[in-house]
Amino acid sequence: MRELIVLGTASQVPTRTRNHNGYLLRWDGEGLLFDPGEGTQRQMIHAGVAASSVTRICLTHVHGDHCFGLPGVLARMALDGAGHPVPVHYPAAGEDVVRALVALAGPGVDVRLVPHGSAGEVAPGLAVVPLRHRVPAFGYRLVEPDGRTLLSDRLAAVGLSGPAVGRLQREGRVGGVRLADVSVPRRGQRFALVMDTAVCAGAEELADGADLLLTESTFADEDEDLAEAYLHLTAGQAGALAGHGGAGTLVLTHFSARYPDVTHLAAQARARAGAARVVAAADLDRFAPPPRRAS
Ligand SMILES: [Zn+2]
Repeated sequence: MRELIVLGTASQVPTRTRNHNGYLLRWDGEGLLFDPGEGTQRQMIHAGVAASSVTRICLTHVHGDHCFGLPGVLARMALDGAGHPVPVHYPAAGEDVVRALVALAGPGVDVRLVPHGSAGEVAPGLAVVPLRHRVPAFGYRLVEPDGRTLLSDRLAAVGLSGPAVGRLQREGRVGGVRLADVSVPRRGQRFALVMDTAVCAGAEELADGADLLLTESTFADEDEDLAEAYLHLTAGQAGALAGHGGAGTLVLTHFSARYPDVTHLAAQARARAGAARVVAAADLDRFAPPPRRAS
């Protein structure tokens, strides 16, 4: 099962309708929790997801709206008896903050601290790319390996079924039938998260080819001077990331509290997003990755 559950969508200060950040990505057997801001534990209850479903925690940076929910989530996991190890990824520059937050949570969860200081893979399929913010910040990209899609008509034509199909997938050949003869290439799905950054090469790299792209969209286009001053994206800039990168679905989040209604931010993003579907997220929204693309 693959699904993005949006737990919060506010930047800096929460509002009556928007909690601080928090995003749970269910990806097959994993539950990746990104940027748990204050209130994340309670938002998970509203979303109907158990704290023990979190298998990995990823922080983009250590500003409070992206990490002050960490102790609560860890303490709840301990209370619920989550026995699995939980890697916590974060920029190495945030070491003191992360250690303090983890210490506040107390014992009970097998936390594995995994700091990163430069671009690269931090877990199988999971990579970080530096962004441009007021403190060191990194975005994340999760990439499924490319595979092959079996074609049932071709399998039937060569008379393969049942366990022989599994063998064909594992071994690449069964008798005179090659896997390539009865399947087509399938591009792995890609999720990317671009959070708290000005426009930069790292954000573009993350957005490139993303099926599901979650980006901050702190300011409206008319407030571009604020975006420049605080190193954030405007809605139009977020849209352009998706447009240039050929993203499938763009989910906008991390809105400034100055916009009670973000409809116009979604329109500004959409105007520059090319073929991408653009959605301004509300708290507790859920998004499935769009259907796989042909290679
Ligand atoms: Zn933020």
